[in-house]
Amino acid sequence: MEKLIIVKYGELTTKKENINLFINTLNKNVTEKLKEFSVKIAYDKGRMFIRVLDSRFSEVVEKLKEVFGIHEIIIGYELETLNLEEIKESIKDLVLEKEFATFKVETKRSNKKIPQSSVEISSEIGAFLLKKKEDIKVDVHNPEITIHVELRNKESYIYFETEKGLGGYPVGTLGKGILMLSGGIDSPVAGFLSIKRGVKLEGIYFESPPHTSIEAKRKVEELAHILSKYNGEMKLHIINFTEIQEAIYKSIPREYLITIMRRMMYRISSIIASRSNAKILVNGESIGQVASQTLTSMKVINEVVKLPVIRPVACFDKLEIIAFAKKIGTYETSILPYEDCCTIFVPEHPVINPDSKVCEEYETLIPYQELIHKAVKNHEIIKIGKQEKKDYEDIL
Ligand code: ATP
Ligand code: MG
Repeated sequence: MEKLIIVKYGELTTKKENINLFINTLNKNVTEKLKEFSVKIAYDKGRMFIRVLDSRFSEVVEKLKEVFGIHEIIIGYELETLNLEEIKESIKDLVLEKEFATFKVETKRSNKKIPQSSVEISSEIGAFLLKKKEDIKVDVHNPEITIHVELRNKESYIYFETEKGLGGYPVGTLGKGILMLSGGIDSPVAGFLSIKRGVKLEGIYFESPPHTSIEAKRKVEELAHILSKYNGEMKLHIINFTEIQEAIYKSIPREYLITIMRRMMYRISSIIASRSNAKILVNGESIGQVASQTLTSMKVINEVVKLPVIRPVACFDKLEIIAFAKKIGTYETSILPYEDCCTIFVPEHPVINPDSKVCEEYETLIPYQELIHKAVKNHEIIKIGKQEKKDYEDIL
């Protein structure tokens, strides 16, 4: 009898035409996630079987809880037999170590050559256990433990516990996206939600030194690091936005500062996306949250790019986003008090109903194409999540 982890895929098995892509990607992602452990991974169209060869079984289980595309994590035992007598003996050995008063047995039999029905097998095992362990009863409605037995081609599996996986799709199966990652609360949550749908992310961060500090940048790196737990290694594009921002500040009427600044961010993000072969932009905009997120603002800002812009938190209110950020572990970093480039240049009365024609007219006042070209040409790329976490504590 060998202890192992059985991974159930869940939702992805319903996508018949993509099933190989989904399962192969999941296998690749799990292999990458577990590379520091000594494990043996096997898989078929229904499940993945992970054998842990060192003593870090529960650590492996914890790591699997960070992998999208996993629906259920089962800690089970494999027997290389379909002989019911041997199976009953093994279950007895396992059950004698457990404390419980009520139980039920649930059998699945994918091997239809076995003559007994699942129900017959369950009741035979149940009757056997009642004779072997004192003070236990069968309760089919509300048992303290359920003994699962699965009979497959040549092997059988026994398990008691299942743990929920993250669900979603394996990262990468839906292609790539560029996450506009600021140091705020919203964009990391938006990132997490898009990773969940199988989108592999690269991040983009606009910094404006010396108006923004190195601490603000480190904070974004740290957020990317947290996201890379789910995303896998994440490229973070750092764009020096100072010249563009100063040009805007110098030449554009105050109320349009933010609208035009955001149009510039969108333009640059879209260039980075096409270079990285990403199909979408992702950001943390939420309808109505600030002046630049009214519907008119969103329309006027969105007009400068052709790519779809996905806003996973568009319809969440701030409290919902905060609750989410706490759950995924980004909140504590997001609330660290470092200014980002938007907050420094915020005018007192930003326009809430900007006009496209007015934007276009104002934009002729700055040589923005040239500035964008320069910012993209000189941008820095940081690879996040490949090595172990850097220690930012001295800075943050
Ligand atoms: P908050 O949680 O304070 O709202 P925020 O980062 O969402 O933080 P907004 O000004 O509302 O702040 O920005 C909307 C979205 O635009 C962000 O969620 C992010 O996706 C993108 N964004 C804003 N500033 C930057 C930046 N400096 N670099 C990259 N993306 C940014
Ligand atoms: Mg926001």
